[in-house]
Amino acid sequence: MHFAIAGAGVAGSYLGSMLQRRGHEVEIFEASKKEHHWPVCAWGASRHMLEKFSQQAGLDFASYIFHVGHRLRMELPDDKEEYLDLKGLVTYDKQRWENDLLKGAKVTYGSRVKRETLQFEKYDYVIDCTGLHRTLLPRAEDDFMIPAYEYLLENVLSIDEFYVIGYKGAKGYFWYFPLGDGRGYMGAGDIQKKYYGVTEFFEEHPEAKIVKKIGRPIRLAPPKRMEPFYDGNVIGVGESIGCVFPMLGEGIIPSLICCDIFLDVLGKSSGKFDFRQYRKKVLDRFNYYDDVYRIVRLKMDGKLSTIRHVNLMMSMYRHMKKEEKRFGFEISLEKMTRLVNAL
Ligand SMILES: Cc1cc2nc3c(=O)[nH]c(=O)nc-3n(C[C@H](O)[C@H](O)[C@H](O)COP(=O)(O)OP(=O)(O)OC[C@H]3O[C@@H](n4cnc5c(N)ncnc54)[C@H](O)[C@@H]3O)c2cc1C
Repeated sequence: MHFAIAGAGVAGSYLGSMLQRRGHEVEIFEASKKEHHWPVCAWGASRHMLEKFSQQAGLDFASYIFHVGHRLRMELPDDKEEYLDLKGLVTYDKQRWENDLLKGAKVTYGSRVKRETLQFEKYDYVIDCTGLHRTLLPRAEDDFMIPAYEYLLENVLSIDEFYVIGYKGAKGYFWYFPLGDGRGYMGAGDIQKKYYGVTEFFEEHPEAKIVKKIGRPIRLAPPKRMEPFYDGNVIGVGESIGCVFPMLGEGIIPSLICCDIFLDVLGKSSGKFDFRQYRKKVLDRFNYYDDVYRIVRLKMDGKLSTIRHVNLMMSMYRHMKKEEKRFGFEISLEKMTRLVNAL
């Protein structure tokens, strides 16, 4: 089959590579110019899952790891503090990983695809991997995102652990993700745009040197809120259809899981892509993300009660516990309850 992919982020590069490996003809269009193309993200994810995806795509994930986390320090409102044991959370060279996937692929950089100008009829299917932009699909009524930005820093020699500040009312959070050798991503997503922690970080670390300042909002709306997933011969894959974990806006692994669902459905479709089966599988796989999203929104609106919403809380805990390796950190009911109550 002949595919066009809009967007060479994590989903577009992995999917493009996998489709090509299966003998399909693939053309990828990326809006940013090659020399400016930079994956806006803090580059943190669970190594267990990335090892699997890398292996499938013929890459050795170990060679991309920057920093292996041991614990995550979390500052909470009212001077509370929590530590999470990490079980595989790493930062990795996301840019090189995506570039390596694209080796040998037909990629046109500096090409911002538009509905009005793309020749849809040239392709059997057009895949919308434009992430946040969702350029080729109709707007999702229930979409929800929070403003965010981050700095790539160097010369931060005094921190070598994952560090997060959770904001009161789950309005957002601050992060520092180490990349090794004194480099790290520091940033914040905040519905109120106050970004507590950023100025304070620079005050505490005057030695920090800014390499880059980058930003874009983080989508929190899960797949159930991001329909339609397809329109004509366009199919959304990755963050464009809400494959993000709503508690953290973490989208690398969910986007890659979505790619594998797409490939699985494509492999089982005879002749034509089975749109309905794809929709069903995505909704099933990310079903509990909607419970997590409801928890986040209830908390933001000051309406979450751990007693009244015990079923939602238990659903989040049970599913996350089952997928502990996929998250890369310990999932404890006690800590989760403490955390939700502290925010
Ligand atoms: C500040 C920040 C930090 C984050 N940190 C993490 C993290 O540490 N871990 C994690 O798991 N997730 C993180 N996320 C979320 C994660 O980065 C995304 O969910 C994930 O990258 C989504 O993958 P994607 O391929 O669907 O979209 P993206 O990776 O966003 O890729 C979309 C691509 O499409 C291109 N594009 C857009 N419009 C067009 C167009 N019209 N034509 C052609 N190309 C187009 C873009 O330039 C981009 O390259 C973070 C997000 C933000 C904003």
